[in-house]
Amino acid sequence: MSETSVTAQAPTTPTDRQPQRSSQRPVRPPRAGRSNGQWAVDGRKPLNPNEEVKQLSPPLEVRRRVEERYALEGFDSIDPDDLHVRLRWWGLYTQRKPGIDGGRTAQLDVTELEDSYFMQRVRIDGAVLSAEQVETLGEISTTFGRDTADITDRQNIQFHWIRVEDLPEIWRRLEAVGLSTIVSAGDTPRAFLLSPVAGIAADEIIDPTPVAEAIRRTYIGDPELANLPRKFKTAITGHPSLDIVHEINDISLVGVVHPELGPGYDLWVGGALSTAPRLGERLGAFVTAEQAAEVWYATIRIFRDYGYRRLRAKARMKFLLAEWGPQRFRQVLQDEYLGYELPDGPAPRSTAARADHLGVHEQKDGLFFIGASPGVGRIGGRRLSAVARLARSVGSDRIRFTPLQNLLILDVEADKVDELVAGLEELDLQVRPRPFRRATLACTGIEFCKFAIVETKDLASRVAAELDERLADLDLDRPLSLNVNGCPNSCARIQIADIGLKGQIITVDGAQVPGFQVHLGGGLADSGREEAGLGRTVRGLKVPADGVADYVERITRRFVAARRDGETFAQ
Ligand code: SF4
Repeated sequence: MSETSVTAQAPTTPTDRQPQRSSQRPVRPPRAGRSNGQWAVDGRKPLNPNEEVKQLSPPLEVRRRVEERYALEGFDSIDPDDLHVRLRWWGLYTQRKPGIDGGRTAQLDVTELEDSYFMQRVRIDGAVLSAEQVETLGEISTTFGRDTADITDRQNIQFHWIRVEDLPEIWRRLEAVGLSTIVSAGDTPRAFLLSPVAGIAADEIIDPTPVAEAIRRTYIGDPELANLPRKFKTAITGHPSLDIVHEINDISLVGVVHPELGPGYDLWVGGALSTAPRLGERLGAFVTAEQAAEVWYATIRIFRDYGYRRLRAKARMKFLLAEWGPQRFRQVLQDEYLGYELPDGPAPRSTAARADHLGVHEQKDGLFFIGASPGVGRIGGRRLSAVARLARSVGSDRIRFTPLQNLLILDVEADKVDELVAGLEELDLQVRPRPFRRATLACTGIEFCKFAIVETKDLASRVAAELDERLADLDLDRPLSLNVNGCPNSCARIQIADIGLKGQIITVDGAQVPGFQVHLGGGLADSGREEAGLGRTVRGLKVPADGVADYVERITRRFVAARRDGETFAQ
């Protein structure tokens, strides 16, 4: 569908616009009547150790100490507050010591769990990468990270096994090709999700690339935005497949067509998963492309000034929205921060069955993009370098990562498509993966994550391959999403999958074994659902890690046998 063929929709009022099913659980804001650490209300006195550390020394300044001291003197020279708090502002977390089983995760202090190596996250912001940039990522992985490199479900790259001694050189190499790790973790504006087909899709409503670039150029790295109550996640799309999980970000700008004002964005705020999941809400406000960066800046400052800082567990923006509601939030945004009213606007509507962008697709300029799955995002440095070479060999210099842990190669001439597909398949980057390979996500898990209780990546890869074999006889209509988490945090978004698995130790025949709590029936607009909803746990439904393939096979067969026309897993 071209830009002009998208139908304009009537604006909707704040009371008739919320998309959530009844599975939305109440998120309770902190108690009224005492200081909750809202800067604009209570002043800036720090109310917990993290707030204290951030105020004692601005976290971004830790980089200087890395370059001048820690990289020369080694891991043991790192100040504990820098190690456990401030280094995150440059995308660094200590990784888990090998050999500590998941049952001991909660019993040990973090210092007993952590190794002297780091996970280093690189901020991508959904941007198009050049072959040179991807090659650099590959070289860093093979030189400093033992060939580890994962595409995350926020379109970033993560390396493991990084030593503090190597950080200055890693940062130098990244910055030489225009990449950075700045505010890629910590209480900051995290890297955005941006539609992977921004600027190239033939059926795009609006190209969000200029908005994302304006925000990045103007505000990312601004010290004024580098001490938020918690992380702040952004998602921007102009594609009708709604391909950036906009319902679970702190702020989302979603392409719509206003009947009088034309293409622009619908504004959503307050979504987040983790242990108290909440879908974001529309403010009912229409934002033009010219206003979008300013509205983003106003919204993040509301969070900075009014977000709760007493308890970290209640500091995400969803708690503020739970207290204020969308009408008050919009009023504060307009009156205190923007100084003008935003017009009412229409709600976005998904027009695509699925938004993973895998396979071969024609771009609006007649060239082609090809989407391929590395399998749960695990790509590695050697394969990244091979992708860069492959892209160049077919005349492409543009590569993107996706929120479903896949990659796209853009700008391929029609007569080079087959050659590229064959090259990708040779690297086991599958262009037409079978359903479970296609729709399985996994977080980092116990291999590297200090919070993990169970292993995730290998298990998810193995289970997906096994299910694709076992269920080859089934017609699934659309792939069922299987999201695997190593602990109750929701890095792999378990509550929005058809089948979500939350890692925990479970008891089987009296023995403690790694297993999962099962969530069923979640899904967002990006999977073609009309109504977004959170999956539900079924009381007592837990599966051991070695029983996951059997369990998923069983419920998938049962679902396919009983399903009526058009019925989704949630029903
Ligand atoms: Fe680590 Fe838990 Fe996040 Fe997985 S979900 S990466 S185990 S914190």
